[in-house]
Amino acid sequence: MREHTITALWEEIPDDADDLDVVGGAFRVYLCPCGKQLPDRTAAELHAMETDQCTTCLGSGSEQIVPGYAQPCTACAGSGRRRAQLQWQLAYAEAETTITVEIVRTLIAPLSGPFRLSEVADTVRDVLGLPVGRLPVGPRVRDILRSLEAAGELVMVSAPDELLRGTSVVLYRDPSWEHVRA
Ligand SMILES: [Zn+2]
Ligand SMILES: [Zn+2]
Repeated sequence: MREHTITALWEEIPDDADDLDVVGGAFRVYLCPCGKQLPDRTAAELHAMETDQCTTCLGSGSEQIVPGYAQPCTACAGSGRRRAQLQWQLAYAEAETTITVEIVRTLIAPLSGPFRLSEVADTVRDVLGLPVGRLPVGPRVRDILRSLEAAGELVMVSAPDELLRGTSVVLYRDPSWEHVRA
């Protein structure tokens, strides 16, 4: 399948470009060595799907978030394969039913100071008896903590590890939150 690995190239990005558009796949041109016309991100994802490749990284195994910054694709564990992506989605769905918002809320309730994502994920693994690597515990816990943050229960207290595009596209490796005091 390597002959359909799609390359995404960057076009000129205007200074006033919307940051979310940039991350979302605008200003990119998609090329497949087989010569198929890929006018936009949707066409590229469809072609990745029909050639058994990951629809997030389009088979390359790494995700270019902004020009000059790439990271191994989390959706397929850097393999570029559609099968790995589907396995990850299944595992994430299982993590969603196993690790509920209530479990996380109960576990962090007694914490008075800031706590890190990795600490909460470790506690969840301990409490539920989940072996390391069986379920995507970290990503699930992170999504729950972000939802509690969006609901106003928590506030993120760490600074981003990386500013990728101004302050609107940033990267946190192991962020910390604390409870919002009433
Ligand atoms: Zn192709
Ligand atoms: Zn991928």
